[in-house]
Amino acid sequence: MEQLTPRIFTETQLRGCNPSYVTTSDGVVVIDTPQLPTYAVAMRQEAETHGVIRYVINTEHHVDHIFGNYFFKGAGQVVHHQGIYENFMKVTPDLDPYAYALEAIPTDDPEGAGLFPDKEEYYADPNSGSIVFTGDLTLRVGDRTFHLLHTPGHTPGQTAVHVPEERTVFTGDTIFSECQTWLMTSNVTQWIDTLDRLRGLDVDYVVPGHGPITTTSAFDAQRAILIEWEAAVASAISLGWSREETIDRVTFAERFPVDIGQGHMMHYIQTLNASSLYDKFTAGQRP
Ligand SMILES: [Zn+2]
Repeated sequence: MEQLTPRIFTETQLRGCNPSYVTTSDGVVVIDTPQLPTYAVAMRQEAETHGVIRYVINTEHHVDHIFGNYFFKGAGQVVHHQGIYENFMKVTPDLDPYAYALEAIPTDDPEGAGLFPDKEEYYADPNSGSIVFTGDLTLRVGDRTFHLLHTPGHTPGQTAVHVPEERTVFTGDTIFSECQTWLMTSNVTQWIDTLDRLRGLDVDYVVPGHGPITTTSAFDAQRAILIEWEAAVASAISLGWSREETIDRVTFAERFPVDIGQGHMMHYIQTLNASSLYDKFTAGQRP
């Protein structure tokens, strides 16, 4: 994995989120787990060479951030905001998270097939939260501090992890760095408020949920793309375009690639982003 600071290791080159770990004088803290089994097992092994894993923190409930928890069973306690805990690996009308994780195996991790649990085995103990909090939570682990900040918007339980001694914040999907933003069920209004909160942090590094490591400039870039999406769909409605016309004509596909390994999702992202904003605006809701 890439070493970002003396204590932080992260991986931005895999399909899935950017899983990371932080070493302390009293063990290791993992932040998000690899979706692909081979890499989850390898990351656990690597992290454990730095000490015992004390905590696994997830930044959100989306499958690409949590599926790998299964391979961290027995490695410390899993810490979840209540919004993550309540939605953990829950099937929704849009997505069956287990099926989505399984579908990645032939193309992205064929060697992981043997490690992939069948559905019953998986759901018997997927390694969800054993410490569940609301609001913010601070963990002091050895000589490092972990401020878990409730930063809703992309998802209801969205959690940013600020490690002041390393001048770093892990934002999860509050930041999509140089790649497509997934809106779907997001609350865009809350998301913009969250960006304003994070903008106040005194940090050098922003570890995004997807895409390359970035800096605090990412907060403005992410706000701009959210506002552009809203404006484009609001304009479509003002022009009298139907839902179908809006989905066909409003696209940001040219702007960024999809994060690694998910290029095939481009059309899905554009369609769901446009349709979710259209549905909320036409229902008279703030998106
Ligand atoms: Zn994600």
